[in-house]
Amino acid sequence: LDDVIAVTSPDFARIEEAMHRSVRWLDRCIAAHQYPERQNLFCIVQGGLDLDLQKKPRYVMGVGYSEDLVVSVALGADMFDCVWPTRTARFGNAVTSTGTLNLRHSSYASDFSPIDEGCTCVCCKPASAGGLGLTRACIYHVASKETAGAHLLSMHNVHYLLNLMRRIREAIIEGRYPEFLKKYFGTLYAGKKDRYPGWAVTALQGVGVDLMED
Ligand SMILES: [Zn+2]
Repeated sequence: LDDVIAVTSPDFARIEEAMHRSVRWLDRCIAAHQYPERQNLFCIVQGGLDLDLQKKPRYVMGVGYSEDLVVSVALGADMFDCVWPTRTARFGNAVTSTGTLNLRHSSYASDFSPIDEGCTCVCCKPASAGGLGLTRACIYHVASKETAGAHLLSMHNVHYLLNLMRRIREAIIEGRYPEFLKKYFGTLYAGKKDRYPGWAVTALQGVGVDLMED
């Protein structure tokens, strides 16, 4: 299954061999699939980049941070999966529109603002709106003693990333993805363009989006 050759390889015979290995694995998965009512098979073809497959959905494994997602989408990626939102939650980290906050830091011990202002996840949403209305201070105190802190942050982080992908889809459909990217980086780095990662600026320039212009 996991026959990954160098993505820049020009050896199409080798790419085809890897593809057939993936397809044989799929045949075995279908034969072993016992619970179609509660499990889905997610098929991917590994093996290399073939420009003849431009019309197929592109799936990027193990990515990633929110800035990785917004840039990869601009470069043509459609789907992602990653352990990061839940793994980083176990270290007390909250993913927010202004960056990742470590809520185990004592500076949050009496910070009674939501994990991420305006977030509509069940943890951040006010109790008056049917949510838990949890504060950064609450997570700080829970996370140091209970694994429940990691669970709550996982719920927030996964919601943040799913909602980010929803906002990305809306921006693309409405034809304003370049503006979305500029605003996203502006918020994430508090308008400080000298802090933008060089790889993101360069990658987006390659598809005609200049983060440095206003
Ligand atoms: Zn939230």
